[in-house]
Amino acid sequence: MKQICVIGVGYVGLVTAACFSDLGNRVIALDVVEEKIEGLKQGKMPIYEPGLKELVDHNVQAGRLSFTTSYAEAIEGTEFVFIAVGTPMGGDGEADLHYVEAAACEIAQHMTAPLIIINKSTVPVGTGDWVADIVRGNQKQPVPFWVVSCPEFLREGSAIGDFTQPHRTVLGSLSPEAAEKVAQLHLALRAPIVITDLRTAEMIKYASNAFLATKISFINEIANICECLGADVKEVSIGMGYDSRIGKQFLDAGVGYGGSCFPKDVKALAYMAAEKGLHPQLLYTVMEINDDQRKMAVTHIKQLVGDLKGKVVGMLGLSFKPNTDDMRDAPSITIAQLLQAEGAVIRAYDPVAMEIASTLMPNVEMMPDPYTLAQGCDVLVILTEWNEFKQLDKPRLRDLMRSPVVYDGRNIYEPDEMVKYGFIYRGVGRGFSEITTDREAV
Ligand code: NAD
Repeated sequence: MKQICVIGVGYVGLVTAACFSDLGNRVIALDVVEEKIEGLKQGKMPIYEPGLKELVDHNVQAGRLSFTTSYAEAIEGTEFVFIAVGTPMGGDGEADLHYVEAAACEIAQHMTAPLIIINKSTVPVGTGDWVADIVRGNQKQPVPFWVVSCPEFLREGSAIGDFTQPHRTVLGSLSPEAAEKVAQLHLALRAPIVITDLRTAEMIKYASNAFLATKISFINEIANICECLGADVKEVSIGMGYDSRIGKQFLDAGVGYGGSCFPKDVKALAYMAAEKGLHPQLLYTVMEINDDQRKMAVTHIKQLVGDLKGKVVGMLGLSFKPNTDDMRDAPSITIAQLLQAEGAVIRAYDPVAMEIASTLMPNVEMMPDPYTLAQGCDVLVILTEWNEFKQLDKPRLRDLMRSPVVYDGRNIYEPDEMVKYGFIYRGVGRGFSEITTDREAV
């Protein structure tokens, strides 16, 4: 049994703490936000993530997982400290490191025995060295320590499965011994372990996220071309995805990527490159396509319903992806703002994100279920591919709406089927059938 401390109980930190404790380690998780820690002590999760509450409860009861706001308590007797604090986007697109800096200072001031400091947050290349400098400069007593980069690749909504069955574990350090000790912690996950230097490990994370974002912008560009040429992007994706060089994942056309990672990480990587005098044109284009995709959704909705003034738009789905309540940089926020600017009245329903969304979207009325949402709507707009939206009672929805119009920003329905149900339907890149009630008509 190892003793581990995890700093930050957000999406990454809490999952890391819960999963490492479930592997039999003694884990103490720390956050500076008292309500989160108090809530966790009473079994209340600060985030929605499938299976997380059960895992936390189980390991708390087993005495392997506890929570604190005290750095002194968290670090005492610990051999490994994971930093999992936020690294949000700064004003110019750079990663804002002030939470990492604060955590590093606190660790330095409270460490009394040798420590391996492991950075799980996504941080710019060179941050590991900078963290080492901060710790060295703030120690109360000279205690040996080592910095290891261990970027996290989990996805919200499937975070526990992703953490426990990762495709790989990446470790970067200047000390092979420290990297080896952290590798031992991860052996139970039975994934390939890539050990490299600090900067390369940090870069692997940015390069991975930028690649996935590129795949999404690529398929969105193909979708827009499909629409003009009468091809169906959903089938194009299937046809492409069977090629193992391409792969099936991240080939779903839609209103673009969002969330707390892709937008900020692509921007931060472009910022790092530009700072060094490079012109990262592919990254710029990936971001431009993604922004346009949100605007294009509004253009298409206007084509469906005409002048938006006074029109009632029902948004189905608000979180940036299904199975999470995360609203950070969700396309729904931008699309709602653009529609409201044109005079539309927005209502919304989301299975778990409405509480958070209502603070970010004060002029959007939250509805208790999809059918109440549909009542009197001029158009339903699907923005998150929640499973529960796939099997909605279509005739009931159609009859409740003022006009049976659906804009499917996640391509969860089939155009022909929707037309059969009497909807005027438009997906993203589904060919000439767009904006008609009759596929043959165009
Ligand atoms: P988050 O905002 O959900 O959680 C961060 C937590 O850190 C918060 O609870 C905050 O209160 C706490 N915190 C901030 N400063 C602190 C301090 N000085 N001491 C202790 N706690 C502090 O963030 P997240 O989504 O978990 O992301 C964390 C990092 O992991 C980011 O760098 C992110 O890019 C990266 N990441 C996130 C995901 C994801 O899907 N969310 C996936 C992979 C990597």
